[in-house]
Parts: sequence; C-alpha cells; structure tokens
Amino acid sequence: MHESNYSRHVDTVRNSIWRNLRTTELNRAPKRDFEIASIDHVVVEGNFMWNLIKVETTTGEYGLGESFSGPIGEYINLLEPALAGQNPLDVDRLTEDMTQLLSPQSGQTGYSQAAISGIETALWDLTGKLTDLPVYQLLGGKYRDEVPVYVDCHAGEAFAGATEAESPEIYAPDAYATVAQRVVDEGFSALKFDLDVRTEDVDTAPRRLSNREIQHKVDIVRAVREQIGSEPMLGFDLHWCFTAETAIRLAKEIEDENLAWLEDPVPPENPAVHKKVTDSTRIPILSGENLTRVEGFLPFMTDQSIDIIAPDVQKCGGLLETRKIATLAEAYGIPMAPHNISSPVGTIASVHLCAATPNAFTLEWHSREVDWWDEFYEGPDLIQDGSITVPEEPGLGLTIDEEVVSAHLAEGEEMFDIP
Ligand code: MG
Repeated sequence: MHESNYSRHVDTVRNSIWRNLRTTELNRAPKRDFEIASIDHVVVEGNFMWNLIKVETTTGEYGLGESFSGPIGEYINLLEPALAGQNPLDVDRLTEDMTQLLSPQSGQTGYSQAAISGIETALWDLTGKLTDLPVYQLLGGKYRDEVPVYVDCHAGEAFAGATEAESPEIYAPDAYATVAQRVVDEGFSALKFDLDVRTEDVDTAPRRLSNREIQHKVDIVRAVREQIGSEPMLGFDLHWCFTAETAIRLAKEIEDENLAWLEDPVPPENPAVHKKVTDSTRIPILSGENLTRVEGFLPFMTDQSIDIIAPDVQKCGGLLETRKIATLAEAYGIPMAPHNISSPVGTIASVHLCAATPNAFTLEWHSREVDWWDEFYEGPDLIQDGSITVPEEPGLGLTIDEEVVSAHLAEGEEMFDIP
C-alpha cells in the first residue's frame, strides 16, 4: 500500500467506527506540548528477526521500541498516519487508539498487537527522555535494582546452530549437561532447555510420545540436574506440542527433579486442557508467550490453569499492558517470568517492566549465541553475573551503536536516521 493509501485506510476506519480515541485537543501544559511526527521500522537480523521501532516528534526527540519477530511492517505503516500529530505522552490512550484502529485486521491479538507493543515501548522511551525519568519510574517505580535473567539454551547447541538433520548428537543428554555446566560457569543461576526435540523419525501429528521417547526426555532432564545440582533454576519448554495425556505421563516421570517449570506442554488456547495438566503435576506449569492483553490471560488466571505466566512485552500489548496483566496475576497469586527473544532494546524494556513489577522473578535471555550482542549498544555489558542492572538514565537508558546495528540489518533493509 502507498503512503497515501495508509492514510486513507486509517481515515476510513476512523470514520466508520463509533469508538474514536484520536484527539489532539486534550489540554496540555505549555512545556509538554509535544507532537508525534513519524514512526519508523527496521529489521535487524539477530538470532531472530528483531523489529526495531522509532517514534520521533516534530521537535526531533525520539524513542526506541521493539516488536516481536515477524511481518509487522504493514501494521507500522498503518499506524504512522494514525498517530501523527498526537501527544506521545498519552501512552495508554494511544495504545487503546491503535488497538481499536487495527481491530478490523485482527481483533486484539496477533501481529497487530506486536506492532502496537513496539510503538508503545518507543512511546515510553520517548516519554522518559522528555520528562527526564527512567521508564521503570513511569511504570510505578522500582522493586529491585537488578533483574535476574535465565538463559534459553535450546539443546546441546544453541537454536541458531541447531539443525536436526546434521547434528542429532546435540540432542543427547550429555550434550545438554555440558551446555548447562558452561552456562552456570558463566555466572547464571537459571536456565531453560527445549524438551520437545525430535530424536526419532515418528509420526508427530497425534501429539503423542512413546514410552521410549519419554525415557529419552527423562534422561535429558536427569543428566542436566545431575550435572548442575539442585540449586540452579531449571525449566524445560514443550512448545505447545503434546496432548494432555502425553504431557501428564512425561511430567510424572520428571516430577522429582525440582524443576522451576514445564513450559507450554499443550496448545494453550483451551484453558480446560491446560488446567487438567496443571492440576495433575507438582511441576509448575508456565505459559503465556502467545497470549495478548489482559483479556487473553484472564481465563487462565481465574481458573488457575497456569502456575507461572510468561507474557512477551514485545507481543502482548507493551509495557503498561504487561504491568496490568502482572497486577491481575498478583491478585490470583501467580508469579511472572516474561518471555523474551528480542534485541537489547526489547530486553532492556522488559528489564524496566520487571523492575517495576513485584511478582516478576526472572526474565528470559535468548541471545547467548549472538556474539555481537554487547556491541549492539554503547557502554558496559548489560548482563553481569546473570543479572541486568536497571538503568537510571532517562527513557530505556539504552543507546544503540548505529554502525553495529546497520551492519546487521536484514536483507533489503535500510537503517532509519537517529537524530
Ligand atoms: Mg517458550
């Protein structure tokens, strides 16, 4: 769609839907009379495709955010004319305005929410810079100075290097154990592996594991536990693959391994199935990376079908929406461990969220294999001794190294200007 067509589309939706949240008329103090000028988007090729978002004002200030990996450019193009001319400090109303505008496309779920999440985060970065406050302060203030991260290790080799056909040995229990020890030696006290790895040529359509396949997974879990001892937090991910009966059979066999959680054992769209699995095992069941907004999480909380929620800030609606989800979770006695596969931009945004959220206890980090991670931004390494110190600079407190980011753009991408 051409630029003018995006504007026409936005006008059509605004004129045809009763709930119109756009306004430039709300009373603003003279020193806070800011206006959004443009929204830009660029894809960086990390171990995932990282969607960086920039919101700029008419006076040249800017904020950065990140949207979840995926095709979100068209949504960003649609949202730019919708937000132009509005006050960037009205973050909650703008987020609601964007959600209402994209509801004809995909309701309140899917990539539209990922696009909105990235813009929302950029608006908080911008608001922090304009008001000289770190984002965690804007979200209600700090509960902790450091946010512990856990490492997603995939298997005996990181996700980016893993090809099942070439290297079945990376799915051997001792390969997992070796990586686990290495990660613990690097100072981390929390880690996660994928357990839904295919080790035999079987029909996966029925979502059912044979006893032999279950035994292989049990061997992996035990090998890792034996290697690193009982202290480190250890989770395993099943990526929505299995039926409840298979998930329950597997969970029973690894119940004594003191796991921090078992993640996404069954497709999460049916809370009743989730509840069946959760109720059947002492292992805490974690889920939520594919849920959006408060409404998506609510049924799983009210019926206690998830023990630990894992919202993805770059996908579920943004920082404030995740804070709202966390508040509800707290009311239902549920802790939070946010999902995160993003660049340092999205990661530091999630750090601010975790700093300002009482029931957040760890944040995912999925980029151990990205050897230019620490060159992506200016200043000292973000992760030290398994934690990220909460920044005190205004906004997200992260300055990207334009040259390094530009060197890692996805094919056909052009870096946006940083004022
Ligand atoms: Mg997962």
